[in-house]
Amino acid sequence: MREILHIQGGQCGNQIGAKFWEVICDEHGIDQTGRYSGDSHLQLERVNVYFNEASGGRYVPRAVLMDLEPGTMDSVRSGPYGQIFRPDNFVFGQSGAGNNWAKGHYTEGAELIDSVLDVVRKEAENCDCLQGFQVCHSLGGGTGSGMGTLLISKIREEYPDRMMLTFSVFPSPKVSDTVVEPYNATLSVHQLVENADECMVLDNEALYDICFRTLKLSTPSFGDLNHLISATMSGITCCLRFPGQLNSDLRKLAVNLIPFPRLHFFMMWDAKNMMCAADPRHGRYLTASAMFRGKMSTKEVDEQMINVQNKNSSYFVEWIPNNVKSSVCDIPPTGLKMASTFIGNSTSIQEMFRRVSEQFTAMFRRKAFLHWYTGEGMDEMEFTEAESNMNDLVAEYQQYQDATADDEGYEDEEQEEEEDAA
Ligand code: GDP
Repeated sequence: MREILHIQGGQCGNQIGAKFWEVICDEHGIDQTGRYSGDSHLQLERVNVYFNEASGGRYVPRAVLMDLEPGTMDSVRSGPYGQIFRPDNFVFGQSGAGNNWAKGHYTEGAELIDSVLDVVRKEAENCDCLQGFQVCHSLGGGTGSGMGTLLISKIREEYPDRMMLTFSVFPSPKVSDTVVEPYNATLSVHQLVENADECMVLDNEALYDICFRTLKLSTPSFGDLNHLISATMSGITCCLRFPGQLNSDLRKLAVNLIPFPRLHFFMMWDAKNMMCAADPRHGRYLTASAMFRGKMSTKEVDEQMINVQNKNSSYFVEWIPNNVKSSVCDIPPTGLKMASTFIGNSTSIQEMFRRVSEQFTAMFRRKAFLHWYTGEGMDEMEFTEAESNMNDLVAEYQQYQDATADDEGYEDEEQEEEEDAA
């Protein structure tokens, strides 16, 4: 079995994580007490990817829950599936992070991190062959963002050959009222570029727009946004949880989607709704993957996918042939006959990074609010480095957006090397 260890941190991370477990328990026929009451052997065939089997035939999520304050985890515990988690896997402090990345990463979070790592280690040791980790968090606050990325770097140190996938919620002024969120998000991206293998970008700006414009909700709540997130997470992980062929583990998913190691931020797409405020028509897809669920003909899916690509060929880089993969999983999400989830590695994602970067720079130019961070021992230099790392990322996306099949960029480089050597 190739197990995945799930970790959720901070308010947002715990809220979306709890929803994720509700949805997948339901899909695998596991009730609120952890007992199986489903009706298809397909539900159990790969259940061990996300669940441990406890004595008495109960299924227990392989999940670690962390926070710097107890509130959100208390509500998870008293929620519908609260009793399904292993009680020892709730790790929390009392101090809070006050939406300050530095508190999560360097001070309060650093104090609690060893207790979290102990639980992570215990779960990892119990695995037959751990494939990797998935972390749910927001980037705009202090705990999920600061402590979340601290944990990611510690795990990378201890398990360098395991995969690290994140579900990262990017901040938007439309949904939040904390002004320092662009700081927290930029400092986090700086970490995620280096220490995560694949990041599923969930952008509150886009989620809000889907709720407001498409679903006609006049005042979307976090609950509404999280409903979209849990459906997306279910779709993305479907190929990991049910038998099938394509992208059946985290590494295969990465191999298909990541042509350049730093460019591992994916946008998701559900019918005509992007989960990330970036317009794919402003860029080009380096790679993409579509997951279909329900009873349908694989042949028809393949034909339709080729059709779409042929009609829109200018939106796919021509120098990666066959860069769109699709798969079909027999089991539809609960309540639907069919569904599909699309993951794209599109150069247009730079639009979202630009948005955050502009908000960051506007404040950083005047050093506004910086004292909250330096007060926790942070150096201004780390802000400068994070800012330029994100700007570099934007430039890299742009470079590959402009690249054509006959640039011969590779040969140029070789030639330069030869010249250097001479
Ligand atoms: P933390 O507890 O310190 O990690 O802080 P939060 O998770 O509250 O981080 C604040 C950021 O997360 C802001 O950008 C919020 O808009 C966002 N956020 C908080 N809770 C939720 C949630 O349940 N769903 C979504 N989509 N975003 C959230």
